[in-house]
Formats: sequence, structure tokens, C-alpha cells
Amino acid sequence: MKRTETNKIKVGNLTIGGTNTVLIQSMCNIKTSKVSEICEQINDCARLGADLMRVSIVDKEDALALKEIKKHVSIPLIADIHFDYRLALLAIENGADKIRINPGNIGSIDKIQQVVDACKKANVSIRIGINSGSLDKEIIKEGEKVTHIHLVNSAKKHVKIIEDMGFTDIVLSLKGSDVKETIAAYRLASKTFKYPLHLGITEAGTKEVGVIRSVAGLSPLLLEGIGDTIRISLTDSPQEEIKVCKRLLHDIGLYPNYPTLISCPTCGRTEVDVKKVASQVLELLEYTNKKITVAVMGCPVNGPGEAKHADIGLAGGKMKWVLFKKGHVIDTIDEKDAFTRLKKEIESFK
Ligand code: SF4
Repeated sequence: MKRTETNKIKVGNLTIGGTNTVLIQSMCNIKTSKVSEICEQINDCARLGADLMRVSIVDKEDALALKEIKKHVSIPLIADIHFDYRLALLAIENGADKIRINPGNIGSIDKIQQVVDACKKANVSIRIGINSGSLDKEIIKEGEKVTHIHLVNSAKKHVKIIEDMGFTDIVLSLKGSDVKETIAAYRLASKTFKYPLHLGITEAGTKEVGVIRSVAGLSPLLLEGIGDTIRISLTDSPQEEIKVCKRLLHDIGLYPNYPTLISCPTCGRTEVDVKKVASQVLELLEYTNKKITVAVMGCPVNGPGEAKHADIGLAGGKMKWVLFKKGHVIDTIDEKDAFTRLKKEIESFK
């Protein structure tokens, strides 16, 4: 897949943009000053595949906490600042690798200049995060429906402010909650700017609806080669967001060395709890960075054949499961031992 080339931006030890790998990120949902809890969450997300994590900087304590957090985590951190330039300065001073702030919302040019100067000095990049819910009056009139043009115009406005100060280590996001407008906004942004794009759908909802909405919005863009980093925003934990990011990238061929789970939809022939076993297997695979296809099928008659492209799989009959490899049954196992046996096979798979 040909990826759209964008400017390369350093974020800690990572590069966003160029034609690099699409990076995965999420946002912590714990107050940043709760250092041990947030470190645990960041490290768990990193184990699951997060390349970088964003944290909220709501007050001075949060900004100061970054220094200690950085000692215990190995992935870059983005400090999310809303309006207070002093918090941005403090976050940069305490080790933020990137800040998310919209220059036009900080206030006077002098305040913006201070933040830009601090970023330049510390090699910290800035994500300008345009969001359909917070466009200013210069961009959209009261009661007007948000379109992709508004989102891109807002990005232009914020970008210009810091470009005029000679700052170009910029990543852009243009998140709307309307899927079609968001796709159009990113397509237009990709033609308008050379800056790396952070893709996402905002306020996507709970996992059940948010995954569908995000995949509907992000897949067309990623398949067109647009997007340098992604977040799937869900009303759920960051760990769940990371898992969905990985699955999405994997399924469209942008995250190759990763396991694939297939499971049958079940039917009137099913006599085992396919859903339960498939969920257990998925949980195991989320932490397995191996290129392996694993199947969980509901009957031993059709299952191994239907999943013959799987490297390994289980197909369940009455109280028994058969273990198969590439469609060939190699063993029959009691129901209680089936998952443990499959786990061992996955662990020893090379
Ligand atoms: Fe039905 Fe068996 Fe196919 Fe599952 S594998 S859908 S149980 S026929």
C-alpha cells in the first residue's frame, strides 16, 4: 500500500510521518498526578502495542508529575493542554515529548511565542487538535452545521500562527463525530498540508458503536495511504482502544506481525461454548506478538476444513474438542483441558 509522504516529526525516540509505520496511541483515563496508577496503565498499554500515550494536564500537579512518570515508562508521552500556556511550559519543562494544544486558544501572541520557544528549545512537537465540537466563532457561525471545510479552515488558522513563528514540528488532527465529514476533512488536509496526520473520530461512543464508527471513518483513509498515527476514541479503557487500533491496522495489512483469530459464527450444529473459548483465546493473543492464525470452531465435522488456513485451531463436539493444524486433526482433548492445550501450542509456535 502506497503511503502518503508527510514531514517527519520526532516525538521522543519515535518518528511520526514520512512513510513510516502508522503509530498507535491512546489517552490515559487516570488523573496524571496519580503517578503509580498512571504508570501502570501506560506500561500495560505499551505491552499491548501502544507506541505513545497522551495524558491530561489539568493542573500544576499533573504537569509536575510528568518528571516522575517519565522515569517509569519507556514510550513517549503527549501532554494534553487546553488553554493555560503556563501548564504547557511546565509540561515541557518536566519532560513531555509532545504537547497537544491549539495555539489560537492560548491567548496573546506573547504567550504563544513562549510555548513555541520552549518547544523549540526542548525539541518538543505540537499536535494541533481540531475538534468539531470546539470550533471558534471566526470559523463557524452560530447554528451552522460543521463541515470538512470548517475543520480544515480551523487547522489552517492554528497552523499559520506557529508557522509564522518559524515552528513546523506539527502533527494535525481534524476530528469530527460525523464519519463522512471527517473523512472529507482528512482527505482535504492531506492535500493542503505536509504535516503528519493523527486520525480519529471524536466522541465515537461505547465500544459496540465506537468501534464501528471509527473503523468506518479510518479504514478508507488508511487504505488510501492517509494517516500517520491513530487513536480509536471509545467510552472504554485505553487498553481497549489500543487493541482495536491493532486489530484495525492488522486487518488492512498495516500491522503484519500479529496474530489473527478466526472463529465460526456458530449454528444449529454447535454443542460447545465457542464464544467463551474464542474470547479466552483472543485475550491470550492480544499479548502475543507472533504471526499466527488461530481458529475456534463450533463443530469437528466442518470446523477443521472451514478453518484449514489456520495454523492451529480447536473445534468443539460433545464435551470434547479436537485440535487441528492446517485442517488436519492431530488430537482429541477433554473440554476442561482444551484451552490450556491450545495455549501451549500457541506458545511453542514458531
Ligand atoms: Fe456451524 Fe460447524 Fe460451521 Fe461453526 S464450524 S458455523 S458449528 S458448521
